[in-house]
Amino acid sequence: MEPISEATRPLMWNVSHVWVMYVMFFVAVAICAWGVGRKVHFWRQGKRDDERLRDWGVRFRILMREILGQRQVRNSLFPGIFHSAIFYSFAVLVITTMIIMAQYDADHLLGLRLEIFRGFVYVFFTVASELAGILILAGIAMAGYRRYLAKPETVPNTVSDGLVLALLAGIVVTGYLAEGVRIAVHGDPWKMLTPAGWGIGALFAGTGEAAGRTIHASLWWAHTFLAMSWIALIPFTKFVHLLSLPANIFFSKLEPRGALRRVDIEKLMESADGEADFKIGIQKADEFTWKQRLDFDACVSCGRCEEVCPTYMSNKEYFTPRQFIAHLKQTVCELGNGASGRKSNGGSKAAEAPDLVGKAFDEEYIWHCRTCTACMEVCPALVEHVDTLLELRRNEVLIQGRIPADAGRAIKCLETHGNPFGPQADRVDWIAHMNVRVVGAGEKVDVLYWIGCCATFDPQKQKIAKDLCRLMDKCGIDFGVLGGDERCCGDPARVIGHEMLFQQIAKEQVAILKRREFKVLLTSCPHCYNVLKHEYRQFGGDFEVAHHSEFLHEMLWLGTLTPKLGAPRKYVYHDPCYLGRYQKIYDSPREVIKAIPHAQMVEMKNHHEKSLCCGGGGGHYWMDLKKGKRINNIRVQQARDSGADTIVTGCAYCLHMVQDSLKLLNCDDRMRVIDLASLTLESIEPPGKKTGVGSQ
Ligand code: SF4
Ligand code: SF4
Repeated sequence: MEPISEATRPLMWNVSHVWVMYVMFFVAVAICAWGVGRKVHFWRQGKRDDERLRDWGVRFRILMREILGQRQVRNSLFPGIFHSAIFYSFAVLVITTMIIMAQYDADHLLGLRLEIFRGFVYVFFTVASELAGILILAGIAMAGYRRYLAKPETVPNTVSDGLVLALLAGIVVTGYLAEGVRIAVHGDPWKMLTPAGWGIGALFAGTGEAAGRTIHASLWWAHTFLAMSWIALIPFTKFVHLLSLPANIFFSKLEPRGALRRVDIEKLMESADGEADFKIGIQKADEFTWKQRLDFDACVSCGRCEEVCPTYMSNKEYFTPRQFIAHLKQTVCELGNGASGRKSNGGSKAAEAPDLVGKAFDEEYIWHCRTCTACMEVCPALVEHVDTLLELRRNEVLIQGRIPADAGRAIKCLETHGNPFGPQADRVDWIAHMNVRVVGAGEKVDVLYWIGCCATFDPQKQKIAKDLCRLMDKCGIDFGVLGGDERCCGDPARVIGHEMLFQQIAKEQVAILKRREFKVLLTSCPHCYNVLKHEYRQFGGDFEVAHHSEFLHEMLWLGTLTPKLGAPRKYVYHDPCYLGRYQKIYDSPREVIKAIPHAQMVEMKNHHEKSLCCGGGGGHYWMDLKKGKRINNIRVQQARDSGADTIVTGCAYCLHMVQDSLKLLNCDDRMRVIDLASLTLESIEPPGKKTGVGSQ
């Protein structure tokens, strides 16, 4: 037996006419390059998006985390396992092939004896490749099982999906067979490194040399043909995600998820040549940016977004985020077949690009999304569904003047009163009644409590604000509120698509806030939190913002608040989308619940990153589109299934949606929903007569 440092095998054994392989390789690369060129041309036809071309260092780090670490891919267990198995193993096979070709080409084309595929390198890559082949076949079997036997409804089956798996399996199987025949005919002192090949070789043990060589050559060329086909087919099949997915990740949004792109409306108006020329949002299929076009190509139709989409759960026939992207892609691709607004091949002017609403989907379609971003959270390609969808809403509302009637009423109220609920005078009266300090312009306070409209105008939700004020009072916090100067933060206008109104509100409220001196802007509303923290920055408002779950967690941790009262109850926490997925605040509220004496915590089927919207997001608190099941009922059913008797939340809108559903499902006598502030106060102060701040 040779020493391990001499371990190797003959390269390209039994292969003649090697030049044919090079011809095949260059043809495959040329086809691939042509296809990639077409893709790049498709992306470049989109409009400019210069923000995506900044911060290359950060982008590179994100790319490495997502591609090498397969972070997003692993967020779904079964597909995560088989995709990672195939991805890493295929990378090993490609590296091994490159080492072999580097040595062979250096020797035969340049006359250099590199001898790199020898010794420990040979042992390592031979064993790694052997294992990689087995893992790829196992991964393909798992993928095939999922796609063709388990058949989850969110995974579409196309012929090309099957062919892609078959091609990969063909490359690996022919590779193993060729290796086995080589071992059987030629022998290999290191065959113990390749147990699969060795085992296959045993099947060919009685084959004569001439027949064996013929079989081996046939298998080797079949293997080579399939490998070259794979290279050529990359841009034309699902393998395109090998290019489009990393590119999409590299150019993904770096700003916080809740910070929507600011449109400079004044500039747009100045540059518009008359009202007809004024454009905002996306109306036509040729108005997407190059990044949005890249999004369309990066989608691999994996269906993960559907699995977590509340709108899909509510109405599987009508809306899915996967189909939303697919519809847009299809409409944009049809531009290439004539409707481009550009010169067609014949030189004549092609038809104008179609409106998306009306062509890609009906008028109601885009209003069904709850902007919960569950789809974006799980998407392995980091497709930005919600940002694109809101661009369509902006155009519908501001240019086409189309808006669901209920949402229109909320916007009207917002324009007239400064909030979507009712006369602003009611806010002033109620705050005066609450007996809290109103911080005027030029005054100073440690914590400025931004109450939010829902907790202000809805008598049932006012309890959240009152209880939080009492807790701050008990902690000895120097706090106050804006009183009549607090108006709606603008979130409803922004998610409904009324960008003009949002910007007007944002500028006014930032100016009002800047006239006060405060350390922390505290809010009990996750929607306000998002706008105050991320969106007001675009208008010069850079504030330290905290959600009341973070505040309560800190007070408990410091020992300033000590819960003493509590009954043995089973609590389940409903993550508000704008607090969980938008701000990544998952632990603070749970820690607060766990601090309640005798509290037992359970989780719903959808929790943390995969939590389900209460149904009120995306402007739906004000809309009732009456299609499909009620999402709040789906959520309450999940809470019931968890065995909990109390649903805790940290958002007045969620509280309202859950309360409604408890009544609708006739379980409000067995289950209750409560905000974190009220829960904490209950555990500190016995019910009865209260005095002081927030007690009235
Ligand atoms: S959008 Fe993302 S999650 Fe949805 S199907 Fe496409 S790749 Fe999968
Ligand atoms: S944001 Fe939420 S509701 Fe909208 S498509 Fe995504 S998962 Fe569905």
